[in-house]
Amino acid sequence: MTMADGGVTMADDSDAVTVGQLLDWARRFARLVDEQRGYLTELDAAIGDGDHGANMDRGLRAACERLEAAPPAGAGELFKLVGTTLVSSVGGASGPLYGTFFLRMGASCADAKEISSPALARALRAGVEGVAARGRAGRGEKTMLDSLYPALEAFEAAVSAGRPAATAFSLARDAAARGRDATIEMVASKGRASYLGQRSAGHQDAGATSAALLFEAAAQAFGGGG
Ligand code: ADP
Ligand code: MG
Repeated sequence: MTMADGGVTMADDSDAVTVGQLLDWARRFARLVDEQRGYLTELDAAIGDGDHGANMDRGLRAACERLEAAPPAGAGELFKLVGTTLVSSVGGASGPLYGTFFLRMGASCADAKEISSPALARALRAGVEGVAARGRAGRGEKTMLDSLYPALEAFEAAVSAGRPAATAFSLARDAAARGRDATIEMVASKGRASYLGQRSAGHQDAGATSAALLFEAAAQAFGGGG
């Protein structure tokens, strides 16, 4: 899985993730959002407008239909297909934001059948930074970024320590869940919840909750423990 090479720990080829696994990740994300659609809507209804579950479900269903109709041969193409579908089929803030995440991931990856863990870490960073730029938001503003950044950092740390993608995604999943939980006490300064000011505190952010599902799906798809 890993080898020490002149003091530098490197992941070897056996740790490459395949397009098939990425496809499984997308399908599992869609399934988890479908299962938790009512919960996501309930969270968004408390401090937003109650459409997050429906938005994400519609977008991911459309993405999965396109993935089934014409399965992409490469990682870059797969992420770009998911991204363009989310941008075009989801009206809420989450469509362009998640769309940007996948489009930036796609632009960062070569269009190859396999992608190494370090390349996947770079793609994730490009995706998360894309969301921050598009949303003009940072950490601590009670948004999806409060799950995405901790997950990204856990993934990067695990990969630089030479851990396989399965372990890295399992650690990222745990970090995303902690980040999601930390949004409960935050006061929103971005998105619709920011209109409520202090009254947004005490509620879990819907987007941080769906972002935790993205990493839950990854942990399942890459076999790091579902
Ligand atoms: P809308 O707010 O248009 O109804 P959704 O309900 O689908 O869209 O998504 C809301 C989620 O989007 C929020 O819970 C939050 O996590 C995320 N969000 C909103 N605005 C921003 C922003 N500027 N940057 C990052 N994330 C944001
Ligand atoms: Mg909403």
